[in-house]
Amino acid sequence: MPPPRRPPDTDRRRADFHAHSFLTDGSTSATEMWYEAEVLEHRALALTDHLSFEDPRPLLERLRGEAAAWEGSKFRPVVGVELTKVPPARIADAARAARRAGAEIVIVHGETIAEHVPPGTNHAAIDSGLVDVLAHPGVLAPEDAELARAHSVVLEISARRGHSLTNGRVARLALEVGAELVVDSDAHSAHELVPLDQARRIALGAGVPEERLEEVLVETPSRLLRRLGGR
Ligand SMILES: [Zn+2]
Ligand SMILES: [Zn+2]
Repeated sequence: MPPPRRPPDTDRRRADFHAHSFLTDGSTSATEMWYEAEVLEHRALALTDHLSFEDPRPLLERLRGEAAAWEGSKFRPVVGVELTKVPPARIADAARAARRAGAEIVIVHGETIAEHVPPGTNHAAIDSGLVDVLAHPGVLAPEDAELARAHSVVLEISARRGHSLTNGRVARLALEVGAELVVDSDAHSAHELVPLDQARRIALGAGVPEERLEEVLVETPSRLLRRLGGR
Protein backbone atom coordinates (compact mmCIF):
# COMPACT_ATOMS: atom_id res chain seq x y z
CA MET A 1 0.00 0.00 0.00
CA PRO A 2 1.43 3.45 -0.83
CA PRO A 3 2.04 5.66 2.18
CA PRO A 4 -0.82 8.06 2.92
CA ARG A 5 -0.30 11.40 1.21
CA ARG A 6 0.71 14.12 3.61
CA PRO A 7 -1.91 16.87 3.64
CA PRO A 8 -0.58 20.23 2.42
CA ASP A 9 1.11 22.22 5.15
CA THR A 10 -1.37 24.91 6.04
CA ASP A 11 0.23 26.05 9.28
CA ARG A 12 0.91 29.74 8.84
CA ARG A 13 2.16 30.41 12.34
CA ARG A 14 5.64 31.79 12.86
CA ALA A 15 8.74 29.60 13.04
CA ASP A 16 12.02 31.01 14.36
CA PHE A 17 15.27 29.09 13.92
CA HIS A 18 17.67 31.09 16.11
CA ALA A 19 17.50 31.94 19.81
CA HIS A 20 19.49 31.52 23.02
CA SER A 21 18.81 30.50 26.60
CA PHE A 22 20.80 31.07 29.79
CA LEU A 23 22.60 27.82 29.06
CA THR A 24 24.94 30.11 27.11
CA ASP A 25 24.57 33.89 26.91
CA GLY A 26 20.80 34.30 27.00
CA SER A 27 19.03 35.48 30.15
CA THR A 28 15.99 33.18 30.11
CA SER A 29 15.57 29.43 30.56
CA ALA A 30 14.91 27.23 27.54
CA THR A 31 11.52 26.32 28.99
CA GLU A 32 10.53 29.97 29.36
CA MET A 33 11.73 30.79 25.82
CA TRP A 34 9.62 27.97 24.39
CA TYR A 35 6.65 28.86 26.53
CA GLU A 36 6.80 32.49 25.45
CA ALA A 37 7.09 31.46 21.79
CA GLU A 38 3.93 29.41 22.21
CA VAL A 39 2.16 32.40 23.77
CA LEU A 40 3.28 34.52 20.78
CA GLU A 41 1.64 31.98 18.47
CA HIS A 42 4.77 30.43 17.06
CA ARG A 43 4.58 26.94 15.61
CA ALA A 44 8.28 26.32 16.36
CA LEU A 45 11.27 27.91 18.03
CA ALA A 46 14.81 26.59 17.76
CA LEU A 47 17.06 27.13 20.73
CA THR A 48 20.51 27.32 19.24
CA ASP A 49 22.85 28.00 22.10
CA HIS A 50 26.45 28.86 21.33
CA LEU A 51 28.82 25.95 20.84
CA SER A 52 32.44 26.00 19.81
CA PHE A 53 34.64 22.91 19.59
CA GLU A 54 33.79 21.46 23.01
CA ASP A 55 31.69 18.36 23.73
CA PRO A 56 28.15 19.21 22.54
CA ARG A 57 26.45 16.54 24.66
CA PRO A 58 25.85 18.36 27.96
CA LEU A 59 24.17 21.31 26.23
CA LEU A 60 22.05 19.15 23.94
CA GLU A 61 21.03 16.75 26.68
CA ARG A 62 19.83 19.65 28.80
CA LEU A 63 17.85 21.19 25.93
CA ARG A 64 16.36 17.84 24.95
CA GLY A 65 15.29 17.25 28.53
CA GLU A 66 13.41 20.55 28.66
CA ALA A 67 11.94 20.06 25.16
CA ALA A 68 10.38 16.76 26.25
CA ALA A 69 7.72 18.74 28.14
CA TRP A 70 6.09 19.61 24.76
CA GLU A 71 5.67 16.03 23.58
CA GLY A 72 2.29 15.65 21.97
CA SER A 73 1.84 19.43 21.75
CA LYS A 74 1.16 21.47 18.59
CA PHE A 75 4.21 23.60 19.38
CA ARG A 76 7.59 22.30 18.25
CA PRO A 77 10.59 23.06 20.46
CA VAL A 78 13.62 22.54 18.20
CA VAL A 79 16.92 21.62 19.83
CA GLY A 80 20.10 22.89 18.22
CA VAL A 81 23.36 24.78 18.36
CA GLU A 82 24.93 27.90 16.89
CA LEU A 83 28.54 27.07 16.05
CA THR A 84 30.36 30.22 17.08
CA LYS A 85 33.87 31.36 16.11
CA VAL A 86 35.04 27.81 15.42
CA PRO A 87 38.10 28.01 13.11
CA PRO A 88 36.61 27.60 9.62
CA ALA A 89 38.63 24.46 8.91
CA ARG A 90 36.96 22.76 11.93
CA ILE A 91 33.35 23.80 11.24
CA ALA A 92 32.44 20.60 9.42
CA ASP A 93 33.81 18.46 12.29
CA ALA A 94 31.95 20.52 14.89
CA ALA A 95 28.71 20.28 12.90
CA ARG A 96 29.08 16.52 12.59
CA ALA A 97 29.70 16.17 16.34
CA ALA A 98 26.63 18.28 17.15
CA ARG A 99 24.45 16.15 14.87
CA ARG A 100 25.78 12.95 16.41
CA ALA A 101 24.93 14.37 19.82
CA GLY A 102 21.32 14.93 18.75
CA ALA A 103 21.17 18.48 17.37
CA GLU A 104 18.07 18.74 15.16
CA ILE A 105 19.34 22.01 13.72
CA VAL A 106 22.87 23.32 13.25
CA ILE A 107 23.30 26.99 12.50
CA VAL A 108 26.56 28.93 12.17
CA HIS A 109 27.37 32.37 13.60
CA GLY A 110 28.18 34.05 10.29
CA GLU A 111 30.43 36.98 9.47
CA THR A 112 28.37 39.78 11.04
CA ILE A 113 30.00 43.20 10.82
CA ALA A 114 29.03 43.86 14.46
CA GLU A 115 32.01 41.92 15.85
CA HIS A 116 35.06 39.91 14.79
CA VAL A 117 34.29 36.53 13.25
CA PRO A 118 36.96 34.36 11.61
CA PRO A 119 37.10 35.26 7.91
CA GLY A 120 36.05 32.30 5.80
CA THR A 121 33.33 31.25 8.27
CA ASN A 122 30.49 31.89 5.81
CA HIS A 123 32.11 29.87 3.05
CA ALA A 124 33.16 26.97 5.30
CA ALA A 125 29.69 26.76 6.84
CA ILE A 126 27.91 26.67 3.48
CA ASP A 127 30.47 24.41 1.86
CA SER A 128 30.27 21.81 4.68
CA GLY A 129 26.84 20.63 3.55
CA LEU A 130 26.10 20.04 7.26
CA VAL A 131 24.60 23.38 8.22
CA ASP A 132 20.92 24.31 8.07
CA VAL A 133 21.08 28.09 8.49
CA LEU A 134 23.87 30.62 8.07
CA ALA A 135 23.03 33.27 10.67
CA HIS A 136 23.71 36.99 10.10
CA PRO A 137 26.10 36.51 7.15
CA GLY A 138 27.31 40.15 7.09
CA VAL A 139 28.89 41.21 3.78
CA LEU A 140 27.89 37.98 2.08
CA ALA A 141 29.86 37.19 -1.10
CA PRO A 142 27.72 36.64 -4.22
CA GLU A 143 29.41 33.29 -4.85
CA ASP A 144 28.55 32.15 -1.31
CA ALA A 145 24.91 33.08 -1.93
CA GLU A 146 25.05 30.86 -5.04
CA LEU A 147 26.63 28.04 -3.06
CA ALA A 148 23.97 28.41 -0.34
CA ARG A 149 21.32 27.85 -3.00
CA ALA A 150 23.15 24.79 -4.33
CA HIS A 151 23.55 23.28 -0.82
CA SER A 152 20.10 24.31 0.46
CA VAL A 153 21.61 26.39 3.26
CA VAL A 154 19.06 28.94 4.45
CA LEU A 155 20.33 32.53 4.78
CA GLU A 156 19.16 34.65 7.69
CA ILE A 157 17.61 38.09 7.92
CA SER A 158 18.36 39.01 11.53
CA ALA A 159 16.18 40.96 13.94
CA ARG A 160 19.16 41.53 16.22
CA ARG A 161 20.73 44.98 16.51
CA GLY A 162 24.14 45.15 14.84
CA HIS A 163 23.68 41.88 13.00
CA SER A 164 20.77 43.47 11.16
CA LEU A 165 22.97 46.13 9.51
CA THR A 166 23.58 43.96 6.45
CA ASN A 167 20.09 42.48 6.07
CA GLY A 168 19.51 44.44 2.85
CA ARG A 169 22.50 42.90 1.09
CA VAL A 170 21.72 39.38 2.32
CA ALA A 171 18.10 39.61 1.19
CA ARG A 172 18.98 41.08 -2.22
CA LEU A 173 21.62 38.44 -3.03
CA ALA A 174 19.47 35.56 -1.81
CA LEU A 175 16.46 36.71 -3.82
CA GLU A 176 18.64 37.23 -6.91
CA VAL A 177 20.15 33.74 -6.89
CA GLY A 178 17.16 31.86 -5.44
CA ALA A 179 18.71 30.99 -2.06
CA GLU A 180 16.23 30.47 0.78
CA LEU A 181 15.69 33.20 3.39
CA VAL A 182 14.15 33.27 6.86
CA VAL A 183 13.68 36.01 9.47
CA ASP A 184 15.16 34.94 12.82
CA SER A 185 15.03 36.76 16.13
CA ASP A 186 18.40 35.73 17.62
CA ALA A 187 16.53 36.45 20.86
CA HIS A 188 18.61 36.30 24.04
CA SER A 189 15.58 36.77 26.28
CA ALA A 190 11.88 36.04 26.00
CA HIS A 191 10.94 39.66 25.26
CA GLU A 192 13.22 39.69 22.19
CA LEU A 193 11.16 37.06 20.38
CA VAL A 194 9.61 38.43 17.20
CA PRO A 195 5.90 37.88 16.44
CA LEU A 196 4.85 37.26 12.85
CA ASP A 197 3.74 40.85 12.21
CA GLN A 198 7.10 42.20 13.22
CA ALA A 199 8.94 39.54 11.18
CA ARG A 200 6.91 40.72 8.19
CA ARG A 201 8.00 44.32 8.73
CA ILE A 202 11.63 43.27 9.15
CA ALA A 203 11.51 41.33 5.87
CA LEU A 204 9.93 44.29 4.06
CA GLY A 205 12.52 46.61 5.60
CA ALA A 206 15.31 44.36 4.34
CA GLY A 207 13.94 44.76 0.83
CA VAL A 208 11.91 41.57 0.41
CA PRO A 209 9.11 42.59 -1.97
CA GLU A 210 5.51 42.06 -0.87
CA GLU A 211 4.99 39.29 -3.41
CA ARG A 212 7.84 37.22 -1.95
CA LEU A 213 6.88 37.54 1.72
CA GLU A 214 4.94 34.28 1.67
CA GLU A 215 8.05 32.46 0.57
CA VAL A 216 10.20 33.96 3.37
CA LEU A 217 7.66 33.83 6.20
CA VAL A 218 5.75 30.62 5.47
CA GLU A 219 7.08 28.41 2.67
CA THR A 220 10.78 28.31 3.56
CA PRO A 221 10.14 27.84 7.31
CA SER A 222 7.76 24.95 6.55
CA ARG A 223 10.28 23.30 4.25
CA LEU A 224 13.09 23.79 6.73
CA LEU A 225 11.02 22.31 9.58
CA ARG A 226 10.42 19.20 7.50
CA ARG A 227 14.13 18.95 6.67
CA LEU A 228 15.43 19.28 10.22
CA GLY A 229 17.43 16.39 11.51
CA GLY A 230 17.71 15.07 7.98
CA ARG A 231 21.19 16.18 6.87
ZN1 LIG B 1 25.30 34.59 16.11
ZN1 LIG C 1 22.80 33.83 18.06
